[in-house]
Formats: sequence, structure tokens, C-alpha cells
Amino acid sequence: MRPIRPGDRGPAVREIRSILARLDLLAPAVGADEFNADTERAVRAFQQSRGLSVDGRVGPETWRALDAARWRLGARTLYHAVPEPLAGEDVRTLQERLLEMGYDVGRADAVYGVRTARAVAQFQREMGLVPDGSCGPHTMNALRRLGRKVVGGRPQWLRESDAIRQAGPTLVGRTVVIDPGHGGADPGVVVPDGPLCWSEADLVHDLASRLEGRLAAAGMRVQLTRGPAPAAPLPDVERAELANALNADVFISLHVDCHTNPAADGVATYHYGTDNGVTSATGERLAGLVQREIVARTGLRDCRTHAKSWELLRLTRMPAVRVEVGYLTSPTDLARLIDPRFRDRVVDAIVAAVQRMYFPIERDVPTGSINVSELRAAAASRVATTAPA
Ligand SMILES: [Zn+2]
Repeated sequence: MRPIRPGDRGPAVREIRSILARLDLLAPAVGADEFNADTERAVRAFQQSRGLSVDGRVGPETWRALDAARWRLGARTLYHAVPEPLAGEDVRTLQERLLEMGYDVGRADAVYGVRTARAVAQFQREMGLVPDGSCGPHTMNALRRLGRKVVGGRPQWLRESDAIRQAGPTLVGRTVVIDPGHGGADPGVVVPDGPLCWSEADLVHDLASRLEGRLAAAGMRVQLTRGPAPAAPLPDVERAELANALNADVFISLHVDCHTNPAADGVATYHYGTDNGVTSATGERLAGLVQREIVARTGLRDCRTHAKSWELLRLTRMPAVRVEVGYLTSPTDLARLIDPRFRDRVVDAIVAAVQRMYFPIERDVPTGSINVSELRAAAASRVATTAPA
């Protein structure tokens, strides 16, 4: 779908404007169906509030977020629908409410899946309601009566860290999904270089293959989301679904950034989180480790870590990060990125970060101190000692 953008007219623009007006981002104007400057401002404000890429256009991801934002909790009955589950802001509000009260809905991903239905049924049982797992008027009343009195921890983040702690510091046998961004007809950022041309899709696939080799050598099961030249571009939703289907322990998405200003450079790492402070604690920790190791080992400028609710980070059910390894549009970063030895240092940094995530916090080591070539020897000796005779 071509993004709906400034200058466009028609019923789709009218619909977008009416949703933005209901969200108080746009003054309602009767019959207006032009994507004017006000509309663009409102779309940008909406994208910013949802942690989406801010471009002022309505592509598929922004459209899904707008569509979901129509729903206020209580406006419709929520239930676990198969095979097309209900999704929307009302589902997210319900999930966050349940999480605060200590019910396990997994991550507040705004999708009414089986886990949400189970948590609702448990809540209903405890409130003396029919435990049918759907959220209709009676359940809504019970939720309203409780209000915000009951506030506990956010159990799912504690569970994520528990699972990691209990698993111990070894990488052997864990599954990592590496996601080189873009691919196929979508090359990502492209920068011409004389007769050649560097593309984000190719560079991040090269990084992913190097990382695959290193993590496999350390004993991990490694899966890439795409090959070097996929037939069709893979949407982020499907990348997340693949990682979930594989029950991955870690998800690492690789991109490089671009900017119209060639002076923009540096590395940034993103993890799941929203403006109102909901965050994946383990995702945040992994992002911090990846970011610090890359900065320490490569000298790229530190553009820090950031919380985003992008589908890729929101729908993945394991610690997930997206790394933007430098700016292809920066001559400094480009010169580094096209050097294979530099890419190896980036890969070393990510391997060290993944390893550190499995060290208990009290046994963590200083940034830049893990010798990643020793991991392979350690993994080999461990396999040798635990393999059946
Ligand atoms: Zn990209």
C-alpha cells in the first residue's frame, strides 16, 4: 500500500482526520478530506505518541495504529476471536489494568490472545462472575469498581528476568533470532559510491551472517529471518511471528540509519517500551549492553538507547532489540561500515552483550572485557563434558 501523504484527498483522508479529531489531535472540520498541513502535524504527533517512526505519512503501520486507536475500553465487548484476534487500544488498556493487578497477560501487546482471555477468566472467577474469558459489561463494571486501587508489580517483566536468571550463564542450546532489516525489493538506505552502491539490506545481512557464525560457535541455535536476496520483502509482523514460533530466547534486529545531514552519525539501540513508562526490563537491559559494548569496541558515537512500541519490539515475546549500527549517509560511518574488520568488531560487541545478559547482575563484567574468542572454547569443552558417551 502506498502511504497516504500530504496533498492526498478522498474518503481515506476523511477517515484519518476523523480519528485524529476524536483523539483531540486535530480540530474537527466538517467534510474536510484534504491531507493538509494540520493533518500532517496531527499525524506526526500521533506517531510520536505511539513510538512509531515520525514521517507525517500514513503507511501500513501507522494505519493499523490509527485503526486500533479508535477503540476506548468499554465501547465494545472484547473476546478471544479465532483466527483474527481483536486488537486495539481498548485491549491494551485492559491488559495494563490486569497487569497492574497481578494477572499474567504476557506483554501488553494490544492483541486479545489466549493468554489475555485466560487472565480475564481468572479475574472473573475471583470476582464471582461467569469465567467466560470475554470482557463485556459485567466484567467492565467489576473492573470499574476496583478502579486503580489494586496495584502490584508488573509481573511479566519479573518473570522474564526470572527465566533468564534460572537458565544460568551458558549460551549453549539457547535460540537467537537475528533479523537483518529490509531485503528483496526493499534495499533500505542506499548510498552510491562511484560505480558501486552500498545498501543497508546487504550490509546488515553481512553483519547478520557474521553474527550467526559467532553465536553458533558459542553453542546457540541461530536463525536468520531472511536470506541475502528474499523474493518478497518481509513485514515486521511476520519477523516477530517467526521469532515467537521458534520460541526464541533473544531477538536482535539489525539496521543502519540515514539522515539528510551527512554530519549525523553514531549507533542507537531500541527496546520495547511506551511513553507511560511500561518497558521490557530485559529488553532494556539487553539494549543497554549492546549499546555500551558497541560504543566501547567500535568508537561509534553513542546515540543511546530508546524505548519504542514498534510492532517488531511489541509483538516479539522475548527480549528484543533493534540496533541502528551507524549512519550510511555519514562519510565517517560509511568508511567504517564497509570495512569487514570493523563489522567483525560490531559482531564481537553483540556477542559479548548477549553473553553478559545471561550473567547474573552481581557477576556481570566491565564493558569491553569479554574475550569473545574464548566463548567458543568454553562452549566446546562444555559440549564435550555433557555429551553422552
Ligand atoms: Zn532500516
